[in-house]
Amino acid sequence: VSSRLPAVGTTIFSVMSALAQQHGAINLSQGFPDFDAPAELLAQLNAAAQAGHNQYAPMTGVPVLREAIAAKVQALYGAIYCPDTEVTVTAGATQALFTAIAALVHPGDEVIVFTPVYDSYGPSIELQGGTVVHAPLSLPGYKPDWALVQRLITPRTRMIILNTPHNPTGTVWSLDDMARLEALVRGTGIVLLSDEVYEHMVFDQGVHHSVMGFPGLAERAVVVSSFGKTYHITGWKVGYCLAPRELMAEFRKVHQFNVFTVHTPSQHALAAFMQQPGWYEQLKALYQGKRDIFRQALAGSRFGLLPCEGTYFQCVTYRALSELPDRDFVEQLTTQHGVAAIPVSAFYPEGDDHGVIRFCFAKSARTLEQALERLIRL
Ligand code: PMP
Ligand code: GLN
Repeated sequence: VSSRLPAVGTTIFSVMSALAQQHGAINLSQGFPDFDAPAELLAQLNAAAQAGHNQYAPMTGVPVLREAIAAKVQALYGAIYCPDTEVTVTAGATQALFTAIAALVHPGDEVIVFTPVYDSYGPSIELQGGTVVHAPLSLPGYKPDWALVQRLITPRTRMIILNTPHNPTGTVWSLDDMARLEALVRGTGIVLLSDEVYEHMVFDQGVHHSVMGFPGLAERAVVVSSFGKTYHITGWKVGYCLAPRELMAEFRKVHQFNVFTVHTPSQHALAAFMQQPGWYEQLKALYQGKRDIFRQALAGSRFGLLPCEGTYFQCVTYRALSELPDRDFVEQLTTQHGVAAIPVSAFYPEGDDHGVIRFCFAKSARTLEQALERLIRL
C-alpha cells in the first residue's frame, strides 16, 4: 500500500498498555485514571439516556453544554465566547486538534511545535501536507527558548501549537512565556492551536495561563480541552474547542464531515455535572496529593526526579539504574519488574533518547503504593 504516513507505527500509548496487560504489570504508561468517574456524573448519563437524549445532537454540540463551556471560560479566564458561534463540542481533544489542523493548515505551510511533542500533532500536520518545525525544549526545565522560536518563524509559518501544562514534561508556561509568545505573533498571520487539556492540573502556587486570558493570543487561537482529563472519563471521548467566529466557522466546515456530531447523552450529563461548585479545586488537590506521594517515594530511589509543575505525569531519569535506551528500559521495567512507563523518546521525531521515562500518577492510592514498592527496590 502507498502509505500517507510511512514513518508512523502504532502509538506508544497502545503499545505500552498492551505490554502491561500481557505481563500483568501495573500500568503507569498511558495517561488515564484507574479510578472511576464520580457516581453523580454516571447517574446524569443514565438520566440523560432515559430522558430520551439518544438521537443526533446539533452539529456544534448541545446548547446547554456549549453555554456551560462559555460560562466556565468566562469565570476562569475572563474570556467571552459566544456559545452559538465560537464553541464546538468535539469527540475528545484528539479530534479537535486533528480537525483544527485539517481546517487551517494548507500544503506547504509550516507548523511550529515544542518538542518533546504530543504524538498526534506531527502526523496530523503531515496528512495536510504541512511541514512540522520542531522547537526543542531542553532538559532539565524543558522551558521554551523564545529566541530560537523567533528564528524558526518564516513567511511560511502558518501555525504554532502550544501545550501548557505540557505532556510529557509537566512544564507549565509562565506569564512571561505568554507575553513572549504574544510579542512574537503580533502583526503576523500566524494562528495558534492551544492544547490546554491539563488546564486544571497545576501544582503548588502555580497558575494555568490560558491563551484565552491574553487578547493578542485569543484573537488568533483555537483552544482545545478535554472532559476526559477533568472528570476521569477518558473513555467517553468528549472535549471541546473555542475560537473567534471566523476561525470557528472554518473549524466547523471540517468538523461536520469528520464526526458531524458527538455522543448526545454524555453532553447532557456533562452540562448538568459542570454546575457542581468546587470541582476544579478538588481535582487539583487530588492530583497534587498523588504527585507528592509519588515524588516523595521516588526521592528515596535511584531514579532522578525531573520537575513536575502540572499534568498527571512525572518524568524521571534512570541512568543510575541502567544504560539501556529508554524503549528497552521501559520494556524491561514492564516485563521484569511489573511497572509500565512511557519512553520519552516517543515524543521526538527522530526518537532522540535522553534517558527519560514518563510515569502517570493518575492512579488509586493502592495502585501507586504497589508500583512505588516495586520502583524503589530497583
Ligand atoms: N492532548 C494532550 C496533550 C493529551 O495528553 C491528550 C490525551 N492524553 C490529548 C490531547 C487527547 O485528549 P482526548 O483523550 O480528549 O482525545
Ligand atoms: N494522551 C494520553 C497519554 O499521554 C493517552 C491518550 C492516547 O492513548 N491517545 O498517555
